[in-house]
This record gives sequence, C-alpha cells and structure tokens, in this order.
Amino acid sequence: MLVDTFGRVATDLRVSLTDRCNLRCSYCMPPEGLDWLPKPDLLTADEIARLVAVAVERLGVTEVRYTGGEPLLRREVVDIVARTTALTPRPQVSITSNGIGLARLAEPLAAAGLDRVNISLDTLDRDVFVKLAHRDRLADVLAGLAAAAAAGLRPVKVNAVLMRGVNDHEAPGLLRFCLEHGYELRFIEQMPLDAQHGWRREDMITADEILRILEPEFTLTPDDPAERGSAPAEVFEVDGGPARVGVIGSVTRPFCGSCDRVRLTADGQIRNCLFATEESDLRAAMRAGASDSELAERWLAAVRRKRAGHGIDDPSFLQPVRPMSAIGG
Ligand code: SAM
Ligand code: SF4
Repeated sequence: MLVDTFGRVATDLRVSLTDRCNLRCSYCMPPEGLDWLPKPDLLTADEIARLVAVAVERLGVTEVRYTGGEPLLRREVVDIVARTTALTPRPQVSITSNGIGLARLAEPLAAAGLDRVNISLDTLDRDVFVKLAHRDRLADVLAGLAAAAAAGLRPVKVNAVLMRGVNDHEAPGLLRFCLEHGYELRFIEQMPLDAQHGWRREDMITADEILRILEPEFTLTPDDPAERGSAPAEVFEVDGGPARVGVIGSVTRPFCGSCDRVRLTADGQIRNCLFATEESDLRAAMRAGASDSELAERWLAAVRRKRAGHGIDDPSFLQPVRPMSAIGG
C-alpha cells in the first residue's frame, strides 16, 4: 500500500491526461494559454493504462480520477476509461471536466463504465463566463451537464470557484440551479496554483465567507464530521435535505491530515501533493525498461516522502512551479 511516514494511505489516484485546455479560467491559466507539454513527453494511452494497472493491482489504489487540463481533449479518453474499469479489483473511475465535449462523450463514457463526473461551473451568466474563462462556451458546459445526468453519471457533481468581484454574487444562484437539477455543488477555495502566480490571500473568498453568502438564503445543517473520512468537502444539508452542498476550504481549513491522494502528471511524474516541490519520474523509468515491480517501488518511495501539510501559511511556502493545469487538479 502507498503509506507515508505519517500513516496516511493513498488510495485515490488523480491522473492528468493532458495539460491542454479549451478554456482559460483566470484562476488557472493566462488568456493566451501556456507552453503545452511537447507531445513526445506525454504518456501514451498504453503507458497510462500500464501505470494505472500498477497502482490498482499492486499498490492498493481503489479510485482513479482522470483530469487535466481538460481530459476530454484527449482522443483516447473513452478507451482509457474502459481499460481502467476492466481492472481487477475494479476501481471507482471518475472524470473532472469543464463539461465541454460531454454532450458527445457522456454516453460512450458511461458505456465504458465511468462511474461519476465532476463538472466545473463558476457562473450561469454568459458575460461573466466570457470574462472568467475567456471563451464563449457556457452553453456547451450546460449541455455537457445535462448529457452527463441523462447518461446516468449521477450524482453529477459541480465544482465552483468564486472570485471576488467576478462571480461571488452568484453563489446562491449556482446553488439554486444545482438544487433544481439534482446536481451536487461544491465550492472550492481558490488556491495558489495559477500559472500566472497572481493568487493573493486577500482576494480569496474563504470557506467562512462562502457560508456567510449562502446562509441568508438557505438553512445549512452540517453533516456529522465523523462521517467525513478523507473527503475534502465539509458537507451541509440544504433546507432540511436531502440535497447537500459542499465547501472545500483547501487553504483556510486544510485537510492534509486525512489526505488519501496521489497524482500522476500527463508527462508521467508522480506528485505526492498538489503543492509538492519534488516529483518522481516514472516515465523515464518506464521508457528505460523498468519492470512493474520496479515502478511500484519508485511509486512507494515517492509517497513515503509526502510532507505533513501543504504549508500555504508557512512563511517559507513556495508555489509549485507546475500550474494546476499541468499537475491535474
Ligand atoms: N479542466 C477540468 C475542469 O476545469 O474541471 C479539469 C482540470 S481543473 C484544473 C480541476 C478543478 O480545479 C476545476 O474544478 C477547477 O475549477 C479547479 N481549479 C483550477 N485552478 C484552481 C485554483 N487556483 N484554485 C482552486 N481550484 C482550482
Ligand atoms: Fe481549463 Fe479546468 Fe484550468 Fe479552467 S480550470 S482553464 S477548464 S484546466
């Protein structure tokens, strides 16, 4: 098992399928995009399938989430999902996507065995969407959400990041929209992971603030914290339930002590934390002929080096060189 020196066990693998994206969310990347990873550096679909099999069959990973960048831009995404759901023991398989392309892909992904999707939706206002994501694609995102629900990828989870003065006024409207459609909304505090290094703590809408914005309009009753386990979201029953809303206070309410995640970047690097400053290169090892057990050994060693916490509040904190889109959020 992927155990670290603090006794945490990583069972939840996040795999970035690509660092490319068709949106430019300003908390993630600049409007002009980034220098994408060169194609030869990207893991091939076969390499991804092999590393995921090592994680599931040898290292006790029980959940695999494909992300990016925008994972649906990867042509082989349906095949990669199908190969993952065919593993024994069968892991839970999910995708985090901006929703663009899901109108076309939700059915084939569900047929490939995909269990769930998380779709990012920060606004319901077309003009705000264009301001925030620098592309006029809100209609495609909404169509993707509807297609995911229709394909049975339920409960559809929605991720929203609030930005001060941009979309923070939309929090109640986003929750109302999700309640109406049966989607589970989770607000995520903005983290210092943007490629532009523009994050400022003062600008961040904190978990406390998110709750203050929602509370005049909704009755929020916290779930029993004992049931939270390793889940990053604090979950609240809305207006007596059964609907719920989650708040992920990654910065102000860190959950590092119960973290069960490990990440594989699109170019084959293991990261034991979103905020890690070191990576372990499985791609080079694999391409040099490493066996599955050698790859598993490297993976174990990388997780053993996991630090106790992300240290954002520590004066020595350094934002990772890789932005969120290249790590796999
Ligand atoms: N492109 C897909 C999407 O947007 O859902 C998957 C990748 S994206 C990096 C994964 C999640 O990270 C999204 O929900 C996005 O809102 C969130 N995210 C990106 N940058 C972030 C930041 N600086 N702080 C908090 N969440 C962030
Ligand atoms: Fe693309 Fe997702 Fe980053 Fe937005 S958050 S720019 S959709 S990778």
